[in-house]
Amino acid sequence: MHPSDMGKPIEQRTGEPIARASGPDHTGNDQEIRPSILVVDDDAFMLGMQSRMLHSMGYPQVTTADSAEAALLFLKQAQSAIDVIVCDLNMPGMDGIEFLQILNCSAFRGNVILLSGEGVRIMHTVQKLLGDGRLMILGALEKPAERATLRALLESWKPLSAAIPTGRTLSFTPEDLTLAHREQQWVLHYQPKVDLVTGALQGMEALVRWNHPEHGMVYPDAFIETAEDCGAIDALTEWVFQDAMKQLGVWRSEGLRFGVAVNVSMENLRSSDFTRRITEFARSAGVPSQDVTLEITESRLMSPSPAPLESLVRLRLQRFGLSIDDFGTGHSSLAQLRDVPFTELKIDRGFVAGARHNQIVRPILEGSIGIAKRMSMQSVAEGVETEDDWHLLREIGCDLAQGYFIGRPMDVTQVPVWLELWRARQSRLVGS
Ligand code: C2E
Ligand code: CA
Ligand code: CA
Repeated sequence: MHPSDMGKPIEQRTGEPIARASGPDHTGNDQEIRPSILVVDDDAFMLGMQSRMLHSMGYPQVTTADSAEAALLFLKQAQSAIDVIVCDLNMPGMDGIEFLQILNCSAFRGNVILLSGEGVRIMHTVQKLLGDGRLMILGALEKPAERATLRALLESWKPLSAAIPTGRTLSFTPEDLTLAHREQQWVLHYQPKVDLVTGALQGMEALVRWNHPEHGMVYPDAFIETAEDCGAIDALTEWVFQDAMKQLGVWRSEGLRFGVAVNVSMENLRSSDFTRRITEFARSAGVPSQDVTLEITESRLMSPSPAPLESLVRLRLQRFGLSIDDFGTGHSSLAQLRDVPFTELKIDRGFVAGARHNQIVRPILEGSIGIAKRMSMQSVAEGVETEDDWHLLREIGCDLAQGYFIGRPMDVTQVPVWLELWRARQSRLVGS
């Protein structure tokens, strides 16, 4: 469309849809799924520039709209789905915030990239504002959008079906959990943590799944909270711990040497018996406590009761490693660092994936690694999803990395296969 046409919604001019796809497909590449993109911006010059940039980057399906109202009408009428909306925040009439809030409550299920001349921190807050709705924000860009950053954000787009894991929306009663425990329906998957300098496997984190007779593999987000609320978490954690100790014994007998990490709930630490039982399980499995790290989720550490602190100190006296999990997401993370003798600081994935191009999370990531160093703790970054994340963490001196880029949580039978694949990638990734 011609720039001079952009002051008013297109449908009033031509009777065709308010916005339309433009540009030929000149990528010649139909192997890879490319998202269809809608750019919403009231500035005609910007709209044209972004549209041309996207085409030249190999995104053939680009639609433009010169106002939020026009975009909403287009989305209502559009035959083909839009995957990604690149949205300006400052627009006369309906602004970007209102537009996104409407979309957030609608059936639209695509992703959004925010675009504004207002600075990255404002956009970050908008991102937060929308956080609990259905819209998935891929990231925020300052105007004028830089090509490399825009490309990185678009490359993080995944078709929706691939992005939604099964079983996460189910909910269960305490009776369901009791039955699951009785029937031994728990399964452990393991996710590797590797050394960022040498690439060596440092440990495996045990992540519980429920092999449900009807729903298939159910992920912990669907049942851990209920287990904590109804008291089933003690039996579950003990099962996880014992099974992980047994598995570590198997790996040792095969000549493999690395540690294991188990997730521990705050609720577990309230029981005065917890340390004794855990110590006993490790001892009878012949596993030295130094090889076991307990990952404690920080948001659950905020209780004023002294009982959990007591358990944590005792665990440390027994030489278990203590990790502050999801660091950066709770309210008293610094207070917990002050009060608990943690040995490991595990930075939440929200500060890791895509950090290189994110001016807000990157300083937090670097600062957290600095804190860990100065407090003689091991730093671990979770949610390492790309090679770019991996190299950034090496540059800024993080100790260990975990995430889909290195390996997804896997069942024990897949571990030897993963190890072989990892050895093949390892030397290239550590530059040796
Ligand atoms: P967590 O301890 O933070 O575990 C990491 C979660 O992030 C896992 O989800 C893992 O599959 C996922 N993940 C790993 N790498 C990546 C990545 O590169 N990108 C992204 N986007 N995600 C990644 P999962 O297994 O669904 O576990 C969710 C949470 O459930 C865990 O978070 C942990 O807090 C809890 N949990 C898991 N197993 C247990 C357990 O045995 N006991 C207790 N109390 N909690 C558990
Ligand atoms: Ca964890
Ligand atoms: Ca975590």
